[in-house]
Amino acid sequence: MILQGAYAIEPWVLRETYLDPELLAQSESVFALANGYVGWRGNLEEGEPHGLPGSYLNGVYELRPLPYAEIAYGYPETGQSVINVTNGKLIRLFVDDEPFDIRYGELRAHERLLDFRAGVLNRHAEWVSPAGKQVRVSSTRLVSFTQRSVAAICYEVEPLAVPARFAVQSELVANEQLPGPASADPRAAAVLESPLVGEYQNADGTVVVLTHSTRLSGINVAAAMDHLIEGPPGVLVESRVFPDGGLVTAATVLEPGQKLRMIKFVAYGSSSERSLTAVRDQAWAALSAARHSGWDGLLAEQRAYLDDFWDRADVEIDGDTEVQQAVRFALFHLLQAGARAETKPILAKGLTGPGYDGHAFWDTETFVLPVLTLTAPDAVANALRWRHYTLPAAFERAAHHGMKGALFPWRTINGQECSGYWPAGTAAFHISADIADAVIRYIDATGDEAFSRGPGMDLLTHTARLWYSLGHHDAQGRFRIDGVTGPDEYSAVVDNNVYTNLMARQNLLAAAEAAARYPDRARELGIDAEESGGWRDAAQEMFIPYDQTLGVHPQDEEFTKHEVWDFAGTPPEKYPLLLHFPYFDLYRKQVVKQADLVLAMYLCPDAFTAEQKARNFDYYEPLTVRDSSLSACTQAVMAAEVGQLALAYDYLGEAALMDLRDLEHNTRDGVHIASLAGAWIAVVGGFGGLRHRGGTISFAPRLPQALSRLVFNVLIRGRRLHVEVTHTDATYTLGDGKPLEILHYDEKVELTGGKPEVRPIQAMSAGPRPGQPPGREPIRRRSIASGE
Ligand code: BGC
Repeated sequence: MILQGAYAIEPWVLRETYLDPELLAQSESVFALANGYVGWRGNLEEGEPHGLPGSYLNGVYELRPLPYAEIAYGYPETGQSVINVTNGKLIRLFVDDEPFDIRYGELRAHERLLDFRAGVLNRHAEWVSPAGKQVRVSSTRLVSFTQRSVAAICYEVEPLAVPARFAVQSELVANEQLPGPASADPRAAAVLESPLVGEYQNADGTVVVLTHSTRLSGINVAAAMDHLIEGPPGVLVESRVFPDGGLVTAATVLEPGQKLRMIKFVAYGSSSERSLTAVRDQAWAALSAARHSGWDGLLAEQRAYLDDFWDRADVEIDGDTEVQQAVRFALFHLLQAGARAETKPILAKGLTGPGYDGHAFWDTETFVLPVLTLTAPDAVANALRWRHYTLPAAFERAAHHGMKGALFPWRTINGQECSGYWPAGTAAFHISADIADAVIRYIDATGDEAFSRGPGMDLLTHTARLWYSLGHHDAQGRFRIDGVTGPDEYSAVVDNNVYTNLMARQNLLAAAEAAARYPDRARELGIDAEESGGWRDAAQEMFIPYDQTLGVHPQDEEFTKHEVWDFAGTPPEKYPLLLHFPYFDLYRKQVVKQADLVLAMYLCPDAFTAEQKARNFDYYEPLTVRDSSLSACTQAVMAAEVGQLALAYDYLGEAALMDLRDLEHNTRDGVHIASLAGAWIAVVGGFGGLRHRGGTISFAPRLPQALSRLVFNVLIRGRRLHVEVTHTDATYTLGDGKPLEILHYDEKVELTGGKPEVRPIQAMSAGPRPGQPPGREPIRRRSIASGE
């Protein structure tokens, strides 16, 4: 077995081979189970020791004041923070009269295994109590993909040498005590003490139900649990309930060879609209449904759901088992973040930790949704419907700022803006175009007509209105968008950020096209010929600055005139720069936090020539410090496109291993969902060369030396396309259904169901490998393949 720290490198599972107290919090994040609505961190069943306890329900948050040193118009006054809801994963164990706690006695073996195909987390431990009783403990837990409110645990204990008395105590606990913030990093969550107010509790036999509400946000939360207990005759079972907790205990004496097994079913309900009784009964109903399926039924449904997912989404990477594992781990976590989010957002940390206060950002539309569009499109329709549902808040915010249309929040849980810092918040207007981009990709890839006519057209229209009111035609007739922040947060409130202008152009054109395609809807939305003509004009005249002297696109109009940051004088411990230098200084220098112009080249591939892409890439590499986990994947994609395959491979490693190697030292707060999406983007967009080109999907595959074969699957218009790439050929095989036209480089290829089309790989020569700021180079990885 090849190990990377405590984790073993295996293609379909993540195995932790021993319990390292230093890794506890990171493991809780990477072993988190979720389905987009319920999220359980990978805390040990017995609750302690822990890095950070965490149970989350998407959409359950508390409000908190956003204080400012100086007041100004338009600042949001209230923030939102995800809260730790009722913990349903607690199962304490007592052996004779001692608690099973790995800090005492002797832990002889401890293994945890996250299985990407079964969708469960397994745990096996052998422990000798301080009094010398040797026991084996094992558990399997899941958060169900098929039953959205349900999670379950199968917990087993047995004595190994001599008889012992066991008490297994299953609990529901609200308002758990949380450790204080581990760092002064503003990106970590605000810790909210006791956010839940007890409303109703009941215990009856093996069933306990607790309901609570949040103090300020007015959300009702219910948690219920039921148990099946198997053991030798005479197991004593009793339950108790308190305002913030309830427990069911099973006690017995076991001989070696005998086991006590407890299956715990947990169900949640939450709502800001429905009454406490309605929410309580919802949890109860979900609990009955889970009991009806039974433990084996839940396992079987989970497996079937994932079989279906992997069948259309799997990626095979020959030559690097570590990246292979990381990419499957990434896809699994993406699915966990979005599969059943339904009327709720997909969050930057998913439901794996409280980082970024549990907010959703542009990360979702720009990184996560493009992957899910081609692998789990239903989740995308739901995520965009959630944006649609928040339109009233976006209208209000636009009006408040004197603009038309919809101004979407930079960070939010409920649709209201809660970024208190203007330059890297509301000024990042591009989020509205990013939402439009996700709409366009989703419609192109699925052909979902009902969505396109309905929520899709609404979103395109209201975001186009924002751009039209935000920009203006200057004296030369150019359409300028001034005073915005692009993806790179080390430049702020700039004029004509190329990324923003290109994305806004696409947004305006798509809205005008939708108005032409659905005239009845256009009338309903009050779009007349003058308005859509205005959008087309603005798009046509959109100002895209270009620096003739340097022969590159400046990130924004003034960017290339600024002084270059003193990279040589910045030691490694001064990164990330935002924690060590004033924004004022970052803003006036050429230093790039994360891919911005380079991202524009990926998302708007036809707006640049091949020569421009190569020159721009070379220009921005030495300026980009990657102080955001959202950068490496984009740099991987563009490095591959300009022929820098070895560099692309190194960036892929960084994007893919962000959490498994804790590269930014903050995985404890939750996994980086967008960077995980980036692992797929780096592979499929980079080495597969996949691009959306006005309704057609194109490929330009090229593998780095380290990889011998790449296989990926994408879902286009309901048909599965299987792509296999080697150093010499690419083979495209379409599943059953209508033919599909794709592009292989610039060649049109007509694919028909079941008939593989083989095309040669086009070689490409590239210049010297561009450098990065000193100390900020991606790690040059050696591929780790099994058996090496
Ligand atoms: C990045 C943003 C991103 C946010 C949440 C920041 O560090 O600069 O682009 O949206 O993190 O992931």
